[in-house]
Amino acid sequence: MENSAYGEIVIVGGGICGLATALALHRKGIRSLVLERSENLRATGVAIIMQANGWHALHQLGVASSLRQTAIPIQRGKLILLSEGSEVERERPLGTSKEFRCLKRADLIKAMAENLPEGTVRTNCQVLSVKLDPVTYFQHLTLSNGTILQAKVVIGCDGVNSVVANMVGLRPARFLLFSTCAARGFTYYHDGHQFPAEFVVMNKDQVRLGRVPVSYNLVYWFITRPRTNQDSTISKDPVLIKQSLMDSVKDFPTHVQEMVKNCELNTLNLTELKYRPPWDLLLENFRRGTVTVAGDAMHATGPFIAQGGSASLEDAVVLARCLAQKMQNHVDKKAQVKERNIPNNNNVIEEALSEYVKERRMRNFWLNLYSFLLEKKISARSLIVKVIILTVISVLFRDPDWHIHYRCGTL
Ligand SMILES: Cc1cc2nc3c(=O)[nH]c(=O)nc-3n(C[C@H](O)[C@H](O)[C@H](O)COP(=O)(O)OP(=O)(O)OC[C@H]3O[C@@H](n4cnc5c(N)ncnc54)[C@H](O)[C@@H]3O)c2cc1C
Repeated sequence: MENSAYGEIVIVGGGICGLATALALHRKGIRSLVLERSENLRATGVAIIMQANGWHALHQLGVASSLRQTAIPIQRGKLILLSEGSEVERERPLGTSKEFRCLKRADLIKAMAENLPEGTVRTNCQVLSVKLDPVTYFQHLTLSNGTILQAKVVIGCDGVNSVVANMVGLRPARFLLFSTCAARGFTYYHDGHQFPAEFVVMNKDQVRLGRVPVSYNLVYWFITRPRTNQDSTISKDPVLIKQSLMDSVKDFPTHVQEMVKNCELNTLNLTELKYRPPWDLLLENFRRGTVTVAGDAMHATGPFIAQGGSASLEDAVVLARCLAQKMQNHVDKKAQVKERNIPNNNNVIEEALSEYVKERRMRNFWLNLYSFLLEKKISARSLIVKVIILTVISVLFRDPDWHIHYRCGTL
């Protein structure tokens, strides 16, 4: 067993949140190490909708302008309810923020990774457990290859099945009860697609399809539908995923069926959805000593408001700001960059992490509650229940775009 000291901040997970956290810390002159279990930095989930609050966070990270070049601006949205025979029963506008674009996840991951100092990310590093050494007060991270790393601060950005969240003492994320499966894919149109720069959501019974152009050739789409017993087998084979999705959209308009039929098979993925209930966000303690969590590890939500990724970027900005405020400056002359030392006193770090948790708790609670209520409304079979949930939503969230107007502040 190799025992290697690292000593500073270790981030578990190199997804959107882990890379954003490392980049935010780097922008504040703080070094960190990202441990990612996969062989390469991967971007599960094809694409991600980014609205004004997410763009604000990307701007703080210094990657907004390059990412703007990769995706067209979306002008408006619409929700279509389909009746029998794929006829449009009702159509209404869907709010989109001032800046709404759909980014390829791979572009987002690449933009953040390219801005990190060399050696920040270690792939093939699966963290199995995190334990506090009661003598040195360092955290010991055991990796699947037997290595033990020591760190002063551990930030769990390891997604919905987080081992760090487990160590912090959080309850595991839950499966959504109803429309619990989401499929996502790209369709490439060699001669350009004919869709306007519009985010369209179509609902038919319990199937929901979203479509948004990334560029003039590329369209991102997602489908949510009730989970079936075959889903765990299907999800391993893109051909089977496609067959199953063709079946789900058989009563949708022809252009939707064509879009799914002509999708890029290697981009298809099918996921069972998990979430952290809103009351967990109020009640759980998201810090244990110098260990905390961010991103889906803290606040996994259903995809009903397309905010999980943006909220993860906000976490990163706030966490780096809170840590930086508590650290002393010093100049690393060799690297010619201003770097900050992690204080020896754990209390200072704990204070910084507590401030971070305090600042993020209520924001993430409201996001989770909003998404939770929307999911309950969509899945309710009784009209009375639907109306009650709608009333609660309109009382609690008078401005349907409240979540997009939020700004996480400067780094
Ligand atoms: C269907 C669907 C659609 C969505 N659409 C949107 C959208 O349009 N807009 C939006 O903002 N959000 C969206 N989201 C939410 C968004 O995808 C997530 O909130 C976001 O990806 C969370 O990022 P993360 O880095 O916290 O977790 P993840 O992306 O899950 O990354 C976790 C990383 O940690 C690694 N890891 C896990 N365990 C370990 C370990 N033990 N050791 C080392 N590494 C580990 C994983 O390999 C992975 O790379 C959607 C979610 C779903 C399910």
